[in-house]
Amino acid sequence: MTDGRQSTETYRMRIGADWRDAASGATFSSSNPYNGELWAVVPDADAADVDAAVAAAQAALDGAWGDATGFERARLMHRLADIIERDAEQLAAFETSDNGKLLREMRGQMDYLPAWLRYFAGAADKLQGEVIPSDRPNFMIYTRHEPVGVVAAIVPWNSPLMLLMWKLAPLLAAGCTVVVKPSEHTPVSALEFAKRVEEAGFPPGVFNVVTGRSAELGRALVAHPGVRHVAFTGSPGIGVKVAQGAAEHFARTTLELGGKSAQVVFPDADLDAACNGVIAGIFAATGQTCVAGSRLVVHRDVHDALLERIVARTKEIQLGDPMLPETEMGPLANAPQFATVSGFVERAVADGARVVTGGRPSPKLGGLFYEPTILARVRSEMEVAREEIFGPVLSVLEFDTEEEAVRTANATRYGLGAGLWTQDIRRAHRVAHQLRAGNVWINSYRVVAPNVPFGGMGASGWGRESGIDAVREYTETKAVWIELSNQTRDPFKLG
Ligand code: NAD
Repeated sequence: MTDGRQSTETYRMRIGADWRDAASGATFSSSNPYNGELWAVVPDADAADVDAAVAAAQAALDGAWGDATGFERARLMHRLADIIERDAEQLAAFETSDNGKLLREMRGQMDYLPAWLRYFAGAADKLQGEVIPSDRPNFMIYTRHEPVGVVAAIVPWNSPLMLLMWKLAPLLAAGCTVVVKPSEHTPVSALEFAKRVEEAGFPPGVFNVVTGRSAELGRALVAHPGVRHVAFTGSPGIGVKVAQGAAEHFARTTLELGGKSAQVVFPDADLDAACNGVIAGIFAATGQTCVAGSRLVVHRDVHDALLERIVARTKEIQLGDPMLPETEMGPLANAPQFATVSGFVERAVADGARVVTGGRPSPKLGGLFYEPTILARVRSEMEVAREEIFGPVLSVLEFDTEEEAVRTANATRYGLGAGLWTQDIRRAHRVAHQLRAGNVWINSYRVVAPNVPFGGMGASGWGRESGIDAVREYTETKAVWIELSNQTRDPFKLG
């Protein structure tokens, strides 16, 4: 298969040095959200496969990978980056075939993936500890940053390889190994990715993948005593269960969860730029991004002028085949997501919201296509303003004062992203500091980079991916004390 959707391909999982079927022999099919075609058959793994994958990951730590220096890890990471660069178009097509997002969006993500590997490869040979001056005579003390061990990487369906890469690059730099569990909706790209990891020459067991359709698989992976860190991206509901499951055996966690991000537009904003940013925030990727700017918090004085621009642009959005370059919005990624979006809009209308545009499945395209939707007369206490929809639905809320804008933007249990549109530099920084969100974009939206920390507050999770400190999420700091005098000390006194 070359373009990811021409024929049905049967996949095996990568565990250690092997390409394997599930131990039970079970399989399931992956479907293309654009046309419903079942285009790939993948193993339906269970706890027995998790045992094998964790054992393979531990064996690599105890063997060749554990012995590899940071320089060697960096060399392999650069090779993998080269291979992803070569295969970006193919990998993008696999992603689009599985999740229905625009090929040009997925291609952009694939082109950017090597930057994460190269950035963190630069850290792999610089994980140095320090010598700490002792507070008493006759001691030398130094620290080491050791790999935490086997990592479980559990990823959702919306940007499978990019969200995997945010975990993979720092954990490889730190010297860890990984068992990846992709979403049941998008199992293929991680298996395709595993072929490239093998080609790059990583020792067997560094990168393992288990695919399955039951939540039991994720639970078994989180609960496995051999897993020392669970790096999870997904919904807050599952994130809580992951944190609980990991805590049972003292595994560490990083949680990248959902959001209900606000785009705050002040009256002095460049309204054309703000309009473009609002569209990018909520209708790009059919609203299926964790940082979707799903609430527009706009000053009353510019409400009508801004809304007029946004509605006009929204009505022009081209829905269609995500593989075509002219398409701007693809379908929703799966049937449960379609039902979720429809349900939210129906309840919002019952709660008193007014549909300005959209508000229904696309009558022209049918299937999993939902029209880009704008809801006005939304108040902070309404469900549609509080809960993550993960679809192309914008709720519009108004404010009069800066203090009210901040209060409205912060009226959510989430804290992932926020957009801020103003020409006033003092207000921009003042408000950015008051917004409860891990990522604040001023006069732009939805920008990420390997060297900039990304993560959330509150129900949006804990820990940060990307940014140099992300390597620390995958290391244990060890302090080593050496007594130099060889004299006997009082055994009943501390220190
Ligand atoms: P989800 O929580 O349903 O599933 C995420 C992953 O967890 C999948 O691989 C799933 O199979 C697995 N899983 C399900 N039950 C499990 C269990 N009991 N134990 C362990 N793993 C289990 O999320 P989703 O619907 O796939 O993705 C959408 C969610 O992801 C949204 O909330 C979105 O905001 C969030 N997300 C967050 C970020 C971020 O970086 N903060 C990025 C993208 C998506």
